[in-house]
Amino acid sequence: MTDTQRPAAVPVAPPKSRRGNPALRGLRVQPHSVSGWFANWRIAMVVVTQLVFYGVPWLQWDGRQAVLFDLGARKFYFGPLVLFPQDFIYLTGLLITCALALFLFTSVAGRLWCGYSCPQTVYTEMFLWIERAIEGDGPAQRRLSAQAWHARKIAIKGSKHAIWATLGLWTGFTFVGFFVPIQQLWAAIPSFEFGGEAFWILFYGFFTYYNAGWLREKICKFMCPYARFQSVMFDADTLIVTYDAARGEPRGIRKKGEDSGLGSCVDCGFCVAVCPTGIDIRKGLQIECISCGACIDACDQVMDRMEMPRGLIRYSTENVLTGKRPKGRWYTHLLRTRVIGYSAVLLAVVGAMVVSLALRDPFRVNVMREASVLSRPTADGRIENLYRIKVFNMDEHPRRYRLVAAGLPSLTVASTEGAVVTVPAISFHTLEVYVRVDPGAGAQRLARHRVPGDGA
Ligand code: SF4
Ligand code: SF4
Repeated sequence: MTDTQRPAAVPVAPPKSRRGNPALRGLRVQPHSVSGWFANWRIAMVVVTQLVFYGVPWLQWDGRQAVLFDLGARKFYFGPLVLFPQDFIYLTGLLITCALALFLFTSVAGRLWCGYSCPQTVYTEMFLWIERAIEGDGPAQRRLSAQAWHARKIAIKGSKHAIWATLGLWTGFTFVGFFVPIQQLWAAIPSFEFGGEAFWILFYGFFTYYNAGWLREKICKFMCPYARFQSVMFDADTLIVTYDAARGEPRGIRKKGEDSGLGSCVDCGFCVAVCPTGIDIRKGLQIECISCGACIDACDQVMDRMEMPRGLIRYSTENVLTGKRPKGRWYTHLLRTRVIGYSAVLLAVVGAMVVSLALRDPFRVNVMREASVLSRPTADGRIENLYRIKVFNMDEHPRRYRLVAAGLPSLTVASTEGAVVTVPAISFHTLEVYVRVDPGAGAQRLARHRVPGDGA
């Protein structure tokens, strides 16, 4: 009989290894599986994020990989957009956008990112599915772990680790496929001729296996900086997972339908048993809580069996719980100064980036004076300067550019490659250019612009 099938009158005690702080004692949290509304959302987020992650490197655009960060060639492809290091401003804009979005999202919805979309949570969830499929649910895993080593245990544990390692390697392979054309990597698999990429595939593969298979909640509890600084973005109107102590206390075991004078919490411990970070939300909001909602699903199941209203544990805000905001109108917490401020700045940054990208010219040129060559007279009595010009073509098609110089009378420009240069698609071309002018042309121009009476 599983814990979820247990009669309501027989409460589920938290497993012994979960008492105290297992992570601090070096034990791994082995959460019980749970089904429900929020569990379905977590499954959906795993599917969506992993379809994007594993699928995007295989997409093609105009005969090349659609999304590729080609560090060697210093070109970054995003569908039709090709960026060069000179477009670093867009990367800065993207980082600012991500930071502002995180501030806004955290201020409104707390750590929903951690519970549903963070790679650590998503991969831990996938590794847990594999573990449960092979070893069974939390109690079965603990029983197996407590046994001495025997052939069956070796086979079970070995197959679990083999599948984890394969998934980790595939994740490392996919990650590297964002930086090196993935079809090229795929073609190298039969011969294992990966070159330097092999190190990075193994590196990321190992850390996926280690973080999601072994470290799990310890990353969230002890390593993730987001958990540390999120409190500055929280306030009494931030959506958090809350235990309704006013309704739940005093807690206590009782039979279904029994009028015991107790609160709604039957002290079954199911909310603790399913928690991936091993905490008891009834003690209040804790830094370890990643807002995954597993305890909400667990408690709702218990409430259903006890024929009591759901929502003893729920997403809510401190102000709603204390009656400062009307119940059921939690969304009014959106109209706060910090939320409006974050939203306005975020919209301004995103708007500026979109406009800038829409108006972006595929032509760019860097002109550098050749420092090692001074101005010199030519055979026909003119003055000559040497420039080095780097012409960028950020278009997906070759382009031709005509060299001209303007600004002074008699100014001419000459290059060893002629007056017209052709730059291949998504590329740049460097050439040397001689700019010549009649002596005194600068003085004539200065004289034309001189203000009468100016003695300079
Ligand atoms: S809060 Fe809900 S799930 Fe947790 S112990 Fe109480 S009744 Fe059980
Ligand atoms: S307390 Fe609830 S919401 Fe928080 S991490 Fe544990 S199960 Fe998830």
